[in-house]
Amino acid sequence: MRKPIIAGNWKMNLTTKDAVELVTALKRDLADVTTVDIIVCPVFTVLDTVNDVIMDTNIGLGGQNLYWENSGAFTGEISASMLKDVGAEYVIIGHSERRQFFGETNETVNKKIKAAQAQGLTAIVCVGEVLEERESGKTQSVVQTQCEGSFAGLSADEMKQLIIAYEPVWAIGTGKTATPQQAQEVHAFIRAWLKQQFSDDVAQTVRIQYGGSVKPGNIKELMTQEDIDGALVGGASLKSASFVDIIKNC
Ligand code: PEP
Repeated sequence: MRKPIIAGNWKMNLTTKDAVELVTALKRDLADVTTVDIIVCPVFTVLDTVNDVIMDTNIGLGGQNLYWENSGAFTGEISASMLKDVGAEYVIIGHSERRQFFGETNETVNKKIKAAQAQGLTAIVCVGEVLEERESGKTQSVVQTQCEGSFAGLSADEMKQLIIAYEPVWAIGTGKTATPQQAQEVHAFIRAWLKQQFSDDVAQTVRIQYGGSVKPGNIKELMTQEDIDGALVGGASLKSASFVDIIKNC
């Protein structure tokens, strides 16, 4: 039985005061939740402060990106050990906005996963097709290529340590959610791929989140799908009321 996992991707939003206000409310309103893993992924500059608020609670902390080297002359970058240093346990890797705006490729995603795992961080690895690819029937081949490249060289045990987020790019921040059936179809495809490439154990263990305009009103139906194990939430994670409702409805 896979435990549901809901992660909030704050993207480039919230400075210290608002971030503290948000996690303080989450800490209060989610204190009794034990059946769902809850994670927040703030901007780098508030990780440390947010960590102070959620330390010893049921809310985990994640970064939104990292660089694969541990330290050195890489201006503007941040490493896995630095994320660990401020209390992060998770890191989002290969988000579509990073692929689209910052040149992230399956190869860089692969290096980042390995760097994250070397420091004991749980990688949340994003895959998903753009609208044109869906409309031309290429969704499965795009997702398969992303999985093959991103997970190249990982062992079955390493695969079991990570989380996959299926995020159809056309559904991110657009208000258009994939139907539960559309999402389930791709989740089942990814799980079948995991079974074929690794083992049934890996396929049954890896949690696959759905991401793309998840809201309190659509999470319940998404979660009824067999292969959907949670959500990566952008916009709706920035307000405590909607993030709390998503978790309670899940
Ligand atoms: C995301 O940022 O991963 C995301 C799914 O955003 P939104 O929920 O706003 O569509």
